[in-house]
Amino acid sequence: MITLSLAEIAEVVGGRMHDIPDASAEVTGPVVRDSREAGPGSLFVAFVGERVDGHDFAAQVVQAGAVAVLGSRPVGVPAIVVDDVQAALGALARHVVHRLGTTLVALTGSAGKTSTKDLIAQVLRRKAPTVFTPGSMNNEVGLPLTALTATDETKFLVLEMGARGIGHIRYLCELTPPRIGLVLNVGSAHIGEFGGREQIARAKGELVEALPPAEEGGTAVLNADDPLVRAMASRTKAKVLLFGESDEADVRAENVRLTDTGQPSFSLHTPSGASDVTMRLYGEHHVSNALAAAAVAHELGMSADEIATALSEAGSLSRWRMEVTERPDGVTVVNDAYNANPESMKAALRALVAMGKGRRTWAVLGKMAELGDEALAEHDAVGRLAVRLNVSKLVAVGGREAQWLQLGAYNEGSWGEESVHVSDAQAAVDLLRSELRPGDVVLVKASRSVGLESVASALLETG
Ligand code: ATP
Ligand code: MG
Repeated sequence: MITLSLAEIAEVVGGRMHDIPDASAEVTGPVVRDSREAGPGSLFVAFVGERVDGHDFAAQVVQAGAVAVLGSRPVGVPAIVVDDVQAALGALARHVVHRLGTTLVALTGSAGKTSTKDLIAQVLRRKAPTVFTPGSMNNEVGLPLTALTATDETKFLVLEMGARGIGHIRYLCELTPPRIGLVLNVGSAHIGEFGGREQIARAKGELVEALPPAEEGGTAVLNADDPLVRAMASRTKAKVLLFGESDEADVRAENVRLTDTGQPSFSLHTPSGASDVTMRLYGEHHVSNALAAAAVAHELGMSADEIATALSEAGSLSRWRMEVTERPDGVTVVNDAYNANPESMKAALRALVAMGKGRRTWAVLGKMAELGDEALAEHDAVGRLAVRLNVSKLVAVGGREAQWLQLGAYNEGSWGEESVHVSDAQAAVDLLRSELRPGDVVLVKASRSVGLESVASALLETG
C-alpha cells in the first residue's frame, strides 16, 4: 500500500467525509474488508452483505487502529461515505496502480487460472517486484484489494479474473484495467451455468476487448491451440501474442514429453530465442500454462533463458493441485482434489501413469461438476481413458457420475475387479487403507464440491 491522506482518498472516490477531525490523517495500509484484519494505518471497507453488515464493525476497527471506514453511511467514527462502495474501492485501486506506474497483467480462462497466475508471478518476480492475487481471490472485491497491496517497489501486478457470466469480466476490467490480458482456454467448466461454450467465450473475451490499443501498449496473449480463444484476436485493438504448440504461435513448445516422473519437459521457443524447460509441476496441462506465462514474460522483456530457468524452478503456490507426497512406506499420494474438469482429469491420469511406471497406479476419481448435457459423455470418456492408459485400479467415488466413470471403464475394457464404485469419501478411505501396498501411486481428483482432499489427507495420516 502507498500512503494516502483521507482527503486524497475522499477525492479519488468522490466520497463525503464524516466525523473526520483531521483530513490529513494518512492511511498507510492495508485496505481490508475483514474487520479482524484491521490494524494501525488501515482503511476498513464496509460492505453490506446478506448476513453481515460491515458497518456494524466500524467502532471495533477504529479501536483496533484503523484510520477510517469506507462505507455507504456515516457510522459515528471517521468515515468516507459513498453511494457505491464497490465502485469506490475500484477507483482507489485504479488511482494507486496509475500513480505507481505498475504494469497490470490480468488472466482468465476456464481452467488453470490460479496455476498460471502463480507461474507468471514466479517468472516475473525474477525481473522485478511482483504482486499477485493470493489463492483464488479473483472477484470484484479480491482484485482491487490485491491491487491496493502494491507498493512503490511493485513493478508488476498479476491478477486472476473469474467470470461468473456475461458482463462480469468487463466490470472487473473497469475496476482494475489491465495492459496485458491473457486468455487461457474456453473449456467446459461451468458450461451448465453459462449455457454453452460460445457463451463462455463471449464472457471471457471481454478481457481482450477491454485492453488499450497496441499503440498504448495493450497486448492480448491468446492460446493458439484453443480455437475459441484464438478467434478472440478479432475482438481486440491490442497487439496479439499467440502461445501454444501450434506452428503459428509466437511462443511455442516443441518436443513436449513427460519425464519418467510425470513432469513435462519441452523446448521453449520465443521470438527472442529458445531454451529447454523441465518443470517441477506435474501434468502435461502445465505446458500450456507455462507457455502462457512465458508469453507474458516475453512481452515484459525477459529472455527465453531467463524464462526457461524460472519455469523449471517454479513450484505450486496453491494447495491440492497435483501435490505429490511420498509416505514413509513408499506409497505416493497425488492430491489433485482442488478441482476437476475433463481436460485436467485426462492430464492427471497421464501424469499418474507416467510417474507410476512399473508400479501399481490407483485413480480415485469423483464427479466433474457443471458439465450440463455433456456430463454423461465426459465421465464415460474419463473411465475409458483410465483403461486405455492401463491404470491399475479405478475407484469411482460418489453418485451417478461415479457410476458413469465406472461404466466407461467397463465398456472400454470389460473392467470388473479393476474398477470399484464406492458411495463416499470415507468408503474410499476404508478400501484404500486395506488395499494399498508399498510402492503404489494414488491419484485423488474430483470437482471442488466433492471434497476428495479428505481422502488424500486420510491416506497421508495413516502413512
Ligand atoms: P478456479 O476457477 O477454481 O479459480 P482455476 O482456473 O484458477 O480454478 P487452477 O486452480 O489453476 O484453475 O486449477 C484447477 C484445476 O484445473 C487443477 O486441479 C488442474 O487439475 C486443472 N488445470 C490446471 N491447468 C489446466 C489447463 N491448462 N487445462 C485444463 N485443466 C487445468
Ligand atoms: Mg483459481
